[in-house]
Amino acid sequence: MGKSTRWFILFCLWFSSIAAQDSPELYKARRKALLNNLGKKNVAIFKAAPVARRNGDVDYEYRQDSDFYYLTGFEEPEAILVLSPRGIYVRDESKFVKEILFLRKRDPRMEVWEGYRLGVERAKSVLGVQAALPIDRFDDYLPALLQNIDTLYIKTKPVGLDEPLSKEMDFIRRARERLYDFAVAHPGKFLNRMREVKDSTELALLQKAIDITCEAHREAMKAARPGMYEYQLEAVIEYIFKKNGSERTGFPSIIGSGPNSCILHYNTNRRQMQDGDMVVIDIGAEYGMYTADITRTIPVNGKFNDAQREIYTIVLEAQNAGIAAAKVGASFWAPAQAAVRKVVEGLIRIGILKGDVETNIRNGTYRAFFMHGTSHHIGLDVHDVSSRGPLKANQVITVEPGIYISEATGRKHGVPPKYWNIGVRIEDDILITEEGPKILSKGAPRTIEEIEKLMSKSSNIH
Ligand code: CA
Repeated sequence: MGKSTRWFILFCLWFSSIAAQDSPELYKARRKALLNNLGKKNVAIFKAAPVARRNGDVDYEYRQDSDFYYLTGFEEPEAILVLSPRGIYVRDESKFVKEILFLRKRDPRMEVWEGYRLGVERAKSVLGVQAALPIDRFDDYLPALLQNIDTLYIKTKPVGLDEPLSKEMDFIRRARERLYDFAVAHPGKFLNRMREVKDSTELALLQKAIDITCEAHREAMKAARPGMYEYQLEAVIEYIFKKNGSERTGFPSIIGSGPNSCILHYNTNRRQMQDGDMVVIDIGAEYGMYTADITRTIPVNGKFNDAQREIYTIVLEAQNAGIAAAKVGASFWAPAQAAVRKVVEGLIRIGILKGDVETNIRNGTYRAFFMHGTSHHIGLDVHDVSSRGPLKANQVITVEPGIYISEATGRKHGVPPKYWNIGVRIEDDILITEEGPKILSKGAPRTIEEIEKLMSKSSNIH
């Protein structure tokens, strides 16, 4: 087979896996699996994310709830999915069904302002649900749905004392008090185990999000220079995201230079970057609802100085050890344990920690410099749901150790000033496989040599 034919076939395979996103079969299979696990006397209700008001007449850009999307592939607000394993009678269709999607009716007048609505009539064929009804009919169905059930699975966020309950939650409260006695529990019990293991469609979308994010890192490395503002680097990055079809960022981009490199979730990104600064770039493009999460830390002027080199080398050693520990069957915490050991060894080596490795690990002395976890799952959410059980094939996790020495931390712990204001985090996205950990984010340079080499080039984006 010729090289070009092979590439064409690979492209078709890739494209069909991306296109499968629009097939209702995938979502149907997920609902079926959940219905099978739910238990005959239980019911699950999933609500679409609400539209959130930003200011005045302006709403935040809409983004569907991840669980709701996982089960429906439907991106409109004001919708509710009901799953009832024992079945519920739908009068309009004179039949028992196990799933109903309640959604907005079509409204040509509103659609002129807000855009296309799928509508009730097309929901069955497009989304493959057994029954579709207008959202305003949900209340009529609630009493029958809740009658004689053991547990209602629904996501409820804690409601403040003065905060009014939503209409449905108020009904559920009254139903429990006066009509039927049932438990209310979080559906994560079932859904987290499903979502934490990715299928081929999800892996293709994640890889695309990761590839876009790696390209943005490469461009940022070429563009960074002293005098540039953090937001200008952010602009280069998010330009690459959008140019490649990313709908939005998976989380606010973190561009933290100099002292800001030591602030973990810094995202104001307003500082002017100075010669001699390190800059932590923690970013993730969202693509087809799936988000990458990749961090690189680079010297703004393109060359690591000795102190930066020492800290960076320790974090890289910790990350390599953490990645190597990300194996099928290993504890979810294994990468963290491996990374902590390397951080402690390295900090002892350069004299920032004193004493022996075991005592420092036991006493947690390293937490003054490495104060966050090492891994989380990624997927529809950047901190994706997980059962935190042993690692399984086709899970995707981050491995992201860091060392942060703010001036205040440096003074408090007697660290030599040459290390002050150095914050380093290196984060990659790792696929767990039977053959061992696979780094999906190899496209972003990670070693000192690779980074300095790329930073010696310049970007065409200003
Ligand atoms: Ca991150």
